[in-house]
Amino acid sequence: MLARIAALALALGTAAAQQAPFAPAPPALGPHLPRDPAPSLAGDSSTPPPNMTLYPLSVGAGPRVALTFFSDGYTAPQEARFVADARALTAAVLDDGGAFGHVRDLVDVWAVFVPSEHEGLGKDAPLEGAPFGLYRHGPELRGVYPAYPGRARAACDYWRGAGTGGCDQAILLGNDGLYGGLGGEFTVITASAENGAQVLRHELGHSLIPVGEEYDGGEVYSGVNAERAENIQQLKWAAFLDAAPRIEDAKVPLQAYPWHDLDGGAWSAAFTSSGAGYTSALVRLSLSSIPRSAHLLVALNGVALAMHWADGSRDRRWVQVELPFGLAPGSWNVTVALTAEGRAAEAGQGGKMISSFEVIEYAEGFRKGGVGAYPTYDVRGHMTLRPTNEECLMRDVTYPNFCPVCAHGLRAALLKRIEKKKDA
Ligand SMILES: [Zn+2]
Repeated sequence: MLARIAALALALGTAAAQQAPFAPAPPALGPHLPRDPAPSLAGDSSTPPPNMTLYPLSVGAGPRVALTFFSDGYTAPQEARFVADARALTAAVLDDGGAFGHVRDLVDVWAVFVPSEHEGLGKDAPLEGAPFGLYRHGPELRGVYPAYPGRARAACDYWRGAGTGGCDQAILLGNDGLYGGLGGEFTVITASAENGAQVLRHELGHSLIPVGEEYDGGEVYSGVNAERAENIQQLKWAAFLDAAPRIEDAKVPLQAYPWHDLDGGAWSAAFTSSGAGYTSALVRLSLSSIPRSAHLLVALNGVALAMHWADGSRDRRWVQVELPFGLAPGSWNVTVALTAEGRAAEAGQGGKMISSFEVIEYAEGFRKGGVGAYPTYDVRGHMTLRPTNEECLMRDVTYPNFCPVCAHGLRAALLKRIEKKKDA
């Protein structure tokens, strides 16, 4: 008995030395998904999982960049559902009018089914028998992490080297109907009907172009869609400009990431508006588990904002309210609270959450459409420039397309990767 325990302790000790027993909490900032690193947990391996089945979803002739879905949390009887989910996501981004429609001739899309013992995502730890061990960290609809990145890497390597199929970018698809994912080495997404395709195209933008964010409050602003203010006369996207270069004047007086459960009480914040020259404004917030606008009250200095949705979904959602006459100069207070109907409603996963809240103010004469130079403020308030106001999915994840600069950058980056593949 003693010998068995000692052997077990030795085995555990070896595993613990190489792999964290549990993932540290990811950084909580930002309105969107966290990025790598995905820590490798005990149980990871450097060999691909057994029983992989390959499906071609959109495959053409000649060398192309291979995007490959891998299943996690789909049981053997759910194989057809996984393929249908991957096929629907592919159509959403690759069909005419989709964000990747203009590069359909440069990419192959494959799906690889790997059976899981249990369906769904892990909560705080991977489900037993899940090939890539996808799990949420906490209940919030935000990050979904692969516990076994080594196995995911090995699976992608396997198909890259195989005679048929391919894998230049692995997409780990979790069997879950609610928002979540991770950017970085692996694009991790869920089969959320509302958000799956949005997350997929935004995260693939990061991975393939590659570019940083265009929304406010992020960490990384780099690539073809970001420029320093002092380079206004030598913009990377000068060839795309619709007018002489100038920095459009917008301010962000409030940028907050409360991730606050409104069942615990209202959330409020104070800010000072930017002054008389700013004649219009936009309020942008994100929520989860608020299926109807009648459940929520958002007030600025006690005046309720008009919002409307009643789709019944408790998934993550983004809401925008235009303030065409702007904000009067001075002090402002914003309050977000549940109505009586909202308090009475049953909470979905992650709770009735106000996740992010932003106020943007526009100076008189601000050009809201076309390619120009628009200020973006990072999490520390530092400004960089982006090419369009709101016409890019790297800025507004609900917008269906890339801006012309990112779209061009995507095609150029894919062509470059294909050239490299030909040389290899
Ligand atoms: Zn863009």
